[in-house]
Amino acid sequence: MTEEKVMSSDELDHSLRYEISEKVGAKSLLKCIQCGVCSSGCTVSQYIDLQPHRVVASLLLGLKDTVLNSNAIWTCSLCHRCTERCPKNVDYSFILALLRNIASKEGRIPKEYSSTVEVISENGFVVPYSGGMKNTIDRRREKMGLPEIIPPKLDEVNYILEETGLGNLIKTKEEKD
Ligand code: SF4
Ligand code: SF4
Repeated sequence: MTEEKVMSSDELDHSLRYEISEKVGAKSLLKCIQCGVCSSGCTVSQYIDLQPHRVVASLLLGLKDTVLNSNAIWTCSLCHRCTERCPKNVDYSFILALLRNIASKEGRIPKEYSSTVEVISENGFVVPYSGGMKNTIDRRREKMGLPEIIPPKLDEVNYILEETGLGNLIKTKEEKD
């Protein structure tokens, strides 16, 4: 039997609810009637630990950690079906995008994401292009008659990472390590 945790009001944090409502404006989660339509049509519902209507309810209740630690915010495919179907015009997919940004700023990001940014920073590509990997890729491309790869300038790549804030993901990871 699962042990249920009883939370005291001191453990609730309503800051997310207000931060998101301010940014989403008229399509705010405050209008949600918990009908569950968003969850019933969600394309990734079988893979997430918190269904869309429960994410909204958790936000309204002040369960910040439950929401930011959920895989729902990272597994979403941003297909926008939930937003299109919502009878109360709640822009759930935009809310999820905001939650990703907030979670990233707090360093709560799956390691696959920060590792990918690290690879881009070091190689300029999403897939590592150096050492044995580089030789394999070059050989295959040659066989297929494809032109040589011209690596991007790393200082330019890292400038973009810094300017977009993505570079912070690597820093956060390094601080944790
Ligand atoms: S479809 Fe809209 S109103 Fe219904 S639970 Fe989802 S967000 Fe709330
Ligand atoms: S945008 Fe995300 S949460 Fe909404 S239906 Fe698509 S996968 Fe599900």
